[in-house]
Amino acid sequence: MSNPYAWIEASLETIHRADWYRSVQTINSLPGAIVLLSGQKVINFASNDYLGLAADESLKKAAIQAIQEFGTGSTGSRLLTGHRELHRELEQAIASTKQTEDAVVFSSGYLANLGAITALVGKRDLILSDQYNHSSLKNGAVLSGATIAEYPHCDINELTAKLQQQRQNHRRCLIITDSVFSMDGDLCPLPELLNLAEEFSCMLLIDEAHATGVMGKTGAGCVEHFDCTGRELIQIGTLSKALGSLGGYVAGSHTLIDFLRNRAPSWIYTTALSPADTAAALAAVKIVQQQPERRKQLWDNVDYLKQLITENLPGLKILPSQSPILCFQLPDAATALKAGKHLREAGIFAPAIRPPTVPTSRIRITMMATHKKEHINKLVNTLKEMEL
Ligand SMILES: *Cc1c(COP(=O)(O)O)cnc(C)c1O
Repeated sequence: MSNPYAWIEASLETIHRADWYRSVQTINSLPGAIVLLSGQKVINFASNDYLGLAADESLKKAAIQAIQEFGTGSTGSRLLTGHRELHRELEQAIASTKQTEDAVVFSSGYLANLGAITALVGKRDLILSDQYNHSSLKNGAVLSGATIAEYPHCDINELTAKLQQQRQNHRRCLIITDSVFSMDGDLCPLPELLNLAEEFSCMLLIDEAHATGVMGKTGAGCVEHFDCTGRELIQIGTLSKALGSLGGYVAGSHTLIDFLRNRAPSWIYTTALSPADTAAALAAVKIVQQQPERRKQLWDNVDYLKQLITENLPGLKILPSQSPILCFQLPDAATALKAGKHLREAGIFAPAIRPPTVPTSRIRITMMATHKKEHINKLVNTLKEMEL
């Protein structure tokens, strides 16, 4: 008999041969604009910590205080022994930022998507999904058992055509999309999506993971950015990016949230968010509400980088972006890898992203409010030396 586990090694070898093998790199410092990465001090352009909150004193203090008061573990699911007043405070703070009736927090953004999508649609239903959607949306769709139709990235005409062809054959319909697309930095056409959803009687679920704390006048996300606050839709997000903690959420109507608390398996059957994560996220939501200057600094940094690139690197192609995620398109994977390596040697952490993760090779930059002008100058000077 052959060893039933032998295929794993063979499969891993295939991954190596294709140059798709991935492994972790250790950061040995607080998160921030400068980190110690595998022993090397680097300027960090790869973090989701847009506002620099993951190392903020008030978040740390809130987390420590919550541990002192409530311990390290929440000890059970929310419906049994896991619920604390802190969870409710956080949910109310999220709902108040989003100006929705209610919100519910999950143990991660990934679980929020799985839970919401599987609760909302099933076998008789249709999901329309943007081709560039995050893995958690795509896997939530598969797990739901609904019929899935992918539409080309942000292509409203194709989406309309698919709705015309397929909508009437299904009971419920759910359109799912990232609001800020994480590998490109562009935005979904939210007003058009809302209109289509209304026209074809579809629910619309948007994932504000990279938008919360970043987009919109008060940091509420792309819904606010597009002036769509108050329209009926399902907003998902994470507490782990601009909010510097861990966890996810769904925000929407009372009815929706009440339903999810009764029907979302990834909320019902998992341990509640830990007291420390909950308290840190709550402190972060308050900072987003009370310190708009952090967001302004982030956007000033984005503008500064764009301006420097226009002035100094006219040949460099930046992919269309309306977010702090900026991608420099490169001709092929080898060039991207070389660029990533060169940047790293110069003390800059900006990863090369290649197919099959994305269709075209690129260097991906995320800006943070805590980057200094000198960090951005160094990035642009290094790119200039490389003569891409
Ligand atoms: C990061 C991300 C998630 C997952 O959130 P976690 O809290 O890290 O699980 C979901 N959706 C999108 C679009 C993301 O970028």
